[in-house]
Amino acid sequence: MKPVLSLWSFLSLKKCVIPSVLDAGLSVKVTSGRIAIALALRHMGISQGDEVLVPAYHCTSMIEPVVWTAAVPVFYRIKNDASVDLDDLEKRISPASRALLITHYFGFPQNLSQLRAFCDKYKLVLIEDCAHSFFGEHNGHPLGSAGEYAICSSMKFFPTYDGGCLISSRTNIENIRLETAGPAFEVKAVINTLEYSLEYRRLNAIRYLLKIPLSVKDAFWKRLKSSRPDSSYESIAPEAAEGAYGFDLRWLTTRMSVWSRIIMTTTSSFRNVAQRRKNYLILLRELTGLPGGTPLFPTLPEGVVPYVFPFRVDEPERVFPLLKQQGVPILRFGEYLWPGVDSDTCPISIDFSRRIFQFPCHQELRDDEITWMIMRIRDALCHDGIQPLYHANTSQKASS
Ligand SMILES: *Cc1c(COP(=O)(O)O)cnc(C)c1O
Repeated sequence: MKPVLSLWSFLSLKKCVIPSVLDAGLSVKVTSGRIAIALALRHMGISQGDEVLVPAYHCTSMIEPVVWTAAVPVFYRIKNDASVDLDDLEKRISPASRALLITHYFGFPQNLSQLRAFCDKYKLVLIEDCAHSFFGEHNGHPLGSAGEYAICSSMKFFPTYDGGCLISSRTNIENIRLETAGPAFEVKAVINTLEYSLEYRRLNAIRYLLKIPLSVKDAFWKRLKSSRPDSSYESIAPEAAEGAYGFDLRWLTTRMSVWSRIIMTTTSSFRNVAQRRKNYLILLRELTGLPGGTPLFPTLPEGVVPYVFPFRVDEPERVFPLLKQQGVPILRFGEYLWPGVDSDTCPISIDFSRRIFQFPCHQELRDDEITWMIMRIRDALCHDGIQPLYHANTSQKASS
């Protein structure tokens, strides 16, 4: 019995060895993902009047760097499974098109062989946005290796204050020069990480995660209110690290804090990958086949490391406040789309930005927290009192 067991655990461990985007090439370590997008665009020589194809389903921090370069963002459609709508993309190509930005939403890879071929055909530079896919592979290659450039937002996967990378194996990014932000920022990065971990210990994963969307939202409104052009505020930290949506040029050539680099490279990737997949599979099992909503992706393929669990809710306006009230941490990717993007641009993106709730599958969630979250979600979906059978083998079984 024993050798069988250890062989089994060896095999299941082997399955968890999934590469990260840092395995895709050389990396330039900066303070955020949006800064990495800006560096990629600048490095390829984008300039005024050029067009960058960007997804209609996006967060604004993907678009701000494009606008900063004075290029024009041209929005393309996505399909019902969050894949790039190639037919629509083809229609949006013009002589000014220079680059294509694609996102591996929630950690699930786009069809990279198709997109690579598309970019080769139309002479476009491919930028892979791996903000949701720090880990993962596609056709045996790490995500991030099909594009001329890839970017990631390491602070979405590691408990760090700042962090994003520009990665490339196809272009020479070694010549990008960065400076350190100085001692104040380095100290702030350490203190904030310590604060996070204290907060975290105090609150546990679920309540800790709940605080993240709140701070993002607050920061968004704060920014809207303070968008007077002359508000020359002084800050020693990039807005990205503060959970805000801003794009602050002063961080363009600033290196990731030493502390965040240490955490990013020494934290157990193995555990991060294994726990995220495990938590995702529990959510998938318990939230499939319910009235009122469906998982965006019906399976979790090998080689995919989910960022969150995206779930399409039929009645988002009813369910969202119910879950919020109960303290379930939810974010909606693309809740705020770039001005002008509407259902003419892409009906599916508009629908997704309302309907797709992302529930955490974070590596630090405990089993009882996941069970609690699942119960709340099922309650909120099934408002007519019909509770479907809950089949996780944990203590909180639903009495049917
Ligand atoms: C968060 C995010 C970014 C930007 O990353 P930051 O590190 O917050 O600047 C880019 N693309 C996607 C898909 C994201 O979710």
